[in-house]
Amino acid sequence: MKFGKQSAWSAAAVALAIALVAGVYLVAAQRARQDIHAAAGRQLQIVALDLESVLERFESLPFALSFHPDLARVLERPQDEALIRRVNQTLQSVQRQARVSAIYLMDENGLTLASSNWQQPYSFVGKNFSFRPYFRDALAGAAGRFYGIGNTTGEPGYFISQPVYRGEPEGGTPAGVIAVKIALGDFEQTWASSEEPIALADARGVVFLSNRADWRYHSLRPLDDPDQQRLVGTMQYAGQQILPIATLAEDAGEPVARPVGRLGWQLMQFPSPWRVTRAALAPTIAAALLLVVAALSWWALLQRRRRMEERSESRRALQRAADELEQKIAQRTSELEAKYAKLQEAERLLRSTQGELVQAGKLAMLGQMAAGITHELNQPLAAIRAFADNAVTFLARGNADKARANLSHIADASARMGALVGQLKGFARKSDVVAGVDLVHALRTSVMLLDNEIRRLAPALDIDAPDRLLVPGDPVRVEQVLINLLRNALDAVEERDHRHISVRMRCEGDEAVVGIRDSGAGIAQQVARHLFEPFFTTKPSGKGLGLGLAISSSIVQAMNGRLEARNTEQGGAEFILRLPLRSEVKQGEALAE
Ligand code: ADP
Repeated sequence: MKFGKQSAWSAAAVALAIALVAGVYLVAAQRARQDIHAAAGRQLQIVALDLESVLERFESLPFALSFHPDLARVLERPQDEALIRRVNQTLQSVQRQARVSAIYLMDENGLTLASSNWQQPYSFVGKNFSFRPYFRDALAGAAGRFYGIGNTTGEPGYFISQPVYRGEPEGGTPAGVIAVKIALGDFEQTWASSEEPIALADARGVVFLSNRADWRYHSLRPLDDPDQQRLVGTMQYAGQQILPIATLAEDAGEPVARPVGRLGWQLMQFPSPWRVTRAALAPTIAAALLLVVAALSWWALLQRRRRMEERSESRRALQRAADELEQKIAQRTSELEAKYAKLQEAERLLRSTQGELVQAGKLAMLGQMAAGITHELNQPLAAIRAFADNAVTFLARGNADKARANLSHIADASARMGALVGQLKGFARKSDVVAGVDLVHALRTSVMLLDNEIRRLAPALDIDAPDRLLVPGDPVRVEQVLINLLRNALDAVEERDHRHISVRMRCEGDEAVVGIRDSGAGIAQQVARHLFEPFFTTKPSGKGLGLGLAISSSIVQAMNGRLEARNTEQGGAEFILRLPLRSEVKQGEALAE
């Protein structure tokens, strides 16, 4: 669509340019034609004036001569030879003086009696010119004028004649005719320098003087028969057939013409049409070149503008892409920032929750332990009271040995109580003291703390451990984890007939691995999914809080370890605790100690 429009525009522009150039050509040609015609007109005027001045200069010569008394005498006595010789000499000297071709005297029959060229081989004397119009005109009493080719000499000339009277000039009939012949051939010579054809044509359109030899004695247009016959009759052009100019059409333009003389002659110049074309061509070519230059400049300008538009368009596209990218980056950044903020918030929440959980777990355990400890302390306390009462009684009876035995029982019971309290002191110690933990020692402490429970349920407790197994971390927390796992195992075997718990500690590569197996019912599938979630429990209220595993796994994670659970082939549960070993204490050294 756009292309079509554009090509239509360019077609219109080309058409306009062609029209413009054509217009310039037409105007220039018109101007050139006018100029050329004006110049031709001026040239013709000069030629015509020249010609007319020649023709007019001799107009009165035959008239003046007709008054010469000798002429009338010759006409009266044509046999008087002495008279004729004198007249011949007179005419000859006038002819030389006036520089005309010939002067001659004819009688009333047209016979030449005396002539300026009487001595020449082509003398007019004795010749009869009665057929010439100028003779007839003069004999009729008027001045005769005629142009024609000389019958005797073969030379063309302009003839002027006047009647000659015997007595008084006016009145009576002329006795003869005096004629002057003027040659006009010189004009042709002056015209020879002109490039364009110049022609002098008579009233019938027959060219008799021209700078083109092939135009001479040819007509501008075909002559009709009466004209042809008249020309033959007057022998004007030596009796020859007058044909139209053959080359007129091809190399002659529109003629410039003006009348000359008294015989209805036309002096013509034919400016070449090529001159007009040549003259008009220069401005036309200049205009065309100008248009081409303008078109090229316009085109270059368009190209430049298009290039600049393309460049700025690509710049804009680049800018757009950059803006989009920047926007995307900003968006992504803000999204990431939001995510990061959420993450930070979650982490903060987790930390606080974790702290709270640890605390809550501790408290719950303390509550549970408080009952156990109370129970545990009550027994020795009751025993101490009984032993003391016994000791008092035995002392009163004077049985010192029995009394001593009872007192030593008291000492044993208090020692057991002291050991129990000592364990509790360790449990209550501030937890974030980072030190190495001997897992074996921690296990022993945990078992001791659960002594009451173990004794109640009396499971087969099977411990397989090296002497020491050191991991980095806080002993209290590690004990907390072990106590949780052992207590869960004890809970799991409580309802079983066959109660068995085994603990295996070993070293696997860079890890210390603790496996606690029980002979319980194992972990149900729906339970396994929620095992480490806080407050998830399957135990009756008052017995379980559902915090043990959640706290334990968070403690283990904080130590860069892992806590996993699975069911054994025997159907019980196994909890596997993996903790990274302390790097500076290799297992070999620990075993060597
Ligand atoms: P609690 O012991 O207070 O219920 P825990 O987080 O320690 O909370 O345990 C969550 C649950 O995981 C228990 O209620 C029990 O259903 C299950 N569980 C834990 N240890 C064992 C085990 N050794 N055998 C079978 N189930 C267990």
